[in-house]
Amino acid sequence: MERCPLCKTELFLSRSYYTTENDHSVDLPTKVFLNVEQRCRNRQCTHYNRVVDVEKQLVYDEAAAIEEQTGATAQ
Ligand SMILES: [Zn+2]
Repeated sequence: MERCPLCKTELFLSRSYYTTENDHSVDLPTKVFLNVEQRCRNRQCTHYNRVVDVEKQLVYDEAAAIEEQTGATAQ
């Protein structure tokens, strides 16, 4: 868990949402990310209830999926 850079209090997860990259492009592989917003819980802190950090996790990568399907034989 990340900590607030100002008050060093552990952040809490406020919201998560998915975003995509290259979703509308045929040439580039589509990537799907899960974004988790993290906020400061310390009322004394100027960052209180603000999004301090967004953790971006890659949950789907079309390029990797294609690689798995074709295997090592593909040139
Ligand atoms: Zn803080």
